[in-house]
Order: sequence, then C-alpha cells, then structure tokens
Amino acid sequence: MSKRDYYEVLEISKSASADEIKKAYRKMAIKYHPDKNPGDKVAEEKFKEAAEAYEILSDDQKRARYDQFGHAGVGGNGGFGGGFGGGMNMEDIFSQFGDIFGGHFGGGFGGFGGGGHQQVKGSNLRIRIKLNLEEMVNGTQKTIKVKKMKMAEDATSKTCPTCSGSGVQIKVMNTMFGQMQTQTTCGTCQGIGKVADKIPAGANAQGLIKDEEEVTINIPAGARDGIQLNVRGKGNDAPFGGIPGDLLVIIEEEVDKAIKREGDNLHQELYISFAEAALGTKKEVPTVGGKVKITVDPGTQSGKILRLAGKGLPSIDSYGKGDMFIHINVWTPQKLTKEQKDFFEKQMSSGEMVAEPSGKEKTFFDKVKDLFN
Ligand SMILES: [Zn+2]
Repeated sequence: MSKRDYYEVLEISKSASADEIKKAYRKMAIKYHPDKNPGDKVAEEKFKEAAEAYEILSDDQKRARYDQFGHAGVGGNGGFGGGFGGGMNMEDIFSQFGDIFGGHFGGGFGGFGGGGHQQVKGSNLRIRIKLNLEEMVNGTQKTIKVKKMKMAEDATSKTCPTCSGSGVQIKVMNTMFGQMQTQTTCGTCQGIGKVADKIPAGANAQGLIKDEEEVTINIPAGARDGIQLNVRGKGNDAPFGGIPGDLLVIIEEEVDKAIKREGDNLHQELYISFAEAALGTKKEVPTVGGKVKITVDPGTQSGKILRLAGKGLPSIDSYGKGDMFIHINVWTPQKLTKEQKDFFEKQMSSGEMVAEPSGKEKTFFDKVKDLFN
C-alpha cells in the first residue's frame, strides 16, 4: 500500500502553521480514536496514519526533510534516522497525547491496549556503509551481508513457569496503607511469557543462533556523512515471538581524491597548460550530476576560481543546492623542445611576454572572501 501524503492525511495545506497542524491532528485523533470506534480496523488505521503525519509535520526538521524527499526522507526502509518505519505503535501515539490534549485527556485513555504482555524487542545492530559523493547525492541501493542472531528453527518453547505466560509478576506487599499490588516484568522470561524448552546445538539459552542475512538498504538521495538510517526489523531476533530489533546503518563519506566537499559546496582543481591559459579553451569537468563543459577565457590566470552554481550538494536542512568551485592551475612546462625554448627566449629578450598585473587582480584573500558571498 502506498503511503498517503501527510498533508492530505491531516487535511491541511502545505503551508499550514504549527498551530493548524496541531488542531488538525487533534480533530482526527478524536474522530478516529479507538475508544470511539471499537473494533473498527479502518478507524484504527486512520488513527495511526494521522499520528504518524503529526509526528513528522510537528517537527520542523522532519517536516523539512519530508517536504524535500517525501516519505523516503523520514521513514520506512532506508529513511533517515530519527524517522520511523513501519508506523507507530499505540503506546507511542498515546504518549504523544500529553502534548496535544493536556495530561488529563491522555490519561483518560490509559485502558487502551492494556493487558497482555509486552512485546520484547531483539537488540539493534549497527553497521557502517561507505558511500561516494555521487551515491550520497543521488541515493543508491546496497545489498550487504549482516551477521545477526536468529531464532533457531528447531528451538521450542514452553510457557514460562514463573508467570504462567502472562509476562508479568504481581507482587503483593503489606504496607502501612494496607496491601498494595505491584506489577513488574517477569524476570524469568523478560515479559515474553515463554522460555526455551529444547535448544538445538549452537544456539544460546534463548534459542538464538548466529546467522547471516542479506539485507538490501535503500539510501535516499541527499544522505550525509554521519547520518543514521533505521531499517526496521533487520536487527537481532527476539526470542520466541518478540519482534526483531532494527538495523542501524551509519553513512560514511568515502574521501574523494578529485572532489573535496565543504558543507554543501564542492571544490576541485583543474590543471590547464600554459598555452590553454593564454589562448583560452573548453574543458570537461566531473560533477556529481555528470560531466559539465566549462569555458576557460583567454588570458586566464593561475588561481582563478570558476563557480558552477547549483552543481554542489543538495542542502539537507534547507532548500537549494551548493555550488561547485573549479580552482584553475596553470601548468608551467617543465621540459621544453628546442623550438619552444627558442620561442620563449625570444619573448624574454624582446620584453614581450612579461607579467603586467593591472592591480585589479584578485588576491588570495579576495578570492576566499568571494566564496562566502
Ligand atoms: Zn515469565
């Protein structure tokens, strides 16, 4: 099922203010609340959908990413860290209610989803993936082998003898106010309600065995060094009916020899010959969007910087793109033929080819200053 647009879900415009978003969500949450629509699966889905839309649109950073990259920017397989895949669970949603309705309202729904034992989650796994600039800008897909703990196929379980499968332990304490009951997670099964019965060779006490799985990771366009993607359910298995943990993918930037990154801007050196500098030329330079033809004007000085607007990286927290700067270096010939040597000697003795700065040449510091304007 394709995800609906978050603005559409909350029935608001793209330019809605924070207050409008909150109001719209409050309306949806009341309309589709499970207590008002008992057993209605459609209402429950709408309730969750609205909560998810609110979770993203109420956070400025997440909203900006969503506006730029759509659903891929904020969640699902390969979404940026801090987003969430697979929707929210009811506990997340109700915990959000305190902010929306004030404490009393949130508290009023405490009964929902209660009872039954809590779901135990497997531990998260963490891996690093190296990407080159082009992959970071355009997005890519990587299939990697992940070492993880998996539920052994022939491991069997039995009902936890301590909690009889409820996952909780109820303790009755005598206090000065009379008897008080406290409920804690069962220490034997950690809340699962089951414990291992038969464990195959090689598996641990929880019936988990070391395994390897191929995971395909979608990396959305605009990734950055250090960003974390959250692939739901691809971490270690939880024993006996729990939900698997997540695979956390940390993006690392591969150092590019030719192109250097500085924020959203990119820099590269271009070497041209003495003759090309004097006569002018056309050159092709690599950019993350493919090769681009540039014109080097006749009489170009070494150290000149050309700016290719918008050929840098897409900005991650605002709109627009950085630029590509081409630093021109004039290559002075190091070996001359007899004819060349004669030619240059003639120029020198006649005083024709001399350095004659007009005083308007930009100094190194001017150029640096220009870069920031
Ligand atoms: Zn137990």
